[in-house]
Amino acid sequence: MNNAITRKDMTYSDAIEQVMLHNGYCASLKLLYEEIWKYKDISKTTGKTPNNTIQERVQRDKRFTNISRGIYALTDKLNLLDENLTLKPYSTFDTLSELEIDKKNEETDYEKDNQDDFELIVKINDTKFESNGGEFTYSGKPKQKKSIKTSTGKTYYPRDKIVSINALNKANHQCEYNTSCPSFERKTSSCLYTEPHHLIPMSKQNDFNYSLDVEENIISLCSNCHNCMHYGKLELRYKIIEKLYNERKDFLFKVGLEIKLEDLKKYYD
Ligand SMILES: [Zn+2]
Ligand SMILES: [Zn+2]
Repeated sequence: MNNAITRKDMTYSDAIEQVMLHNGYCASLKLLYEEIWKYKDISKTTGKTPNNTIQERVQRDKRFTNISRGIYALTDKLNLLDENLTLKPYSTFDTLSELEIDKKNEETDYEKDNQDDFELIVKINDTKFESNGGEFTYSGKPKQKKSIKTSTGKTYYPRDKIVSINALNKANHQCEYNTSCPSFERKTSSCLYTEPHHLIPMSKQNDFNYSLDVEENIISLCSNCHNCMHYGKLELRYKIIEKLYNERKDFLFKVGLEIKLEDLKKYYD
């Protein structure tokens, strides 16, 4: 993973790429002129006419393809572009309808949850902890939600690894979908390996008044069931969701997280 790129050393092309990545893989020149400074330090630029430089890079760098008048896209993501958008000849990318913007946000939410989940797993794997034999008790009290953070133009949903470790402990390091799922001993401790999964996805924090990052909302899953929750066929995911929901709904309610099964399922569509 390359975290070394900071605002200071990002090239024009890299910054353009970032704008596109956060705008559904494409951007108009106008958007590039405005958004590029989220990723590139304007005070470090030497030329007097950065807009000309942006235009030149987006036209010359093979990473970008002109798809419509004044609109460019990431060459290696062309197949992922929404057809409706690319087919509009004088696409009004700067005035996307609310609906289209919502749709884009939904898509990135889903990808973000996968990525943030993975980062949390890595953090836990690097932490030394011991099982307490399922001793953890739920607080039963709603927790103040944290605000969604933005760093270099990217939003993310903070997750506390200790809360997740508590949840794994509570489940005694077994898969909560099926306690007989096979597992193995962790490298850093004597407990079995399971992964935390937020039943109500963290990316939906805005829909709730209280924190989703609470033990009551975190399920301990074997790696197989966890991957199924993210990448499995919808019917399989629904089956797991339904079982976990029925076991957790009362606990969720106590911590201010009220949700119907149908609505929870929609989050996984
Ligand atoms: Zn997960
Ligand atoms: Zn399992």
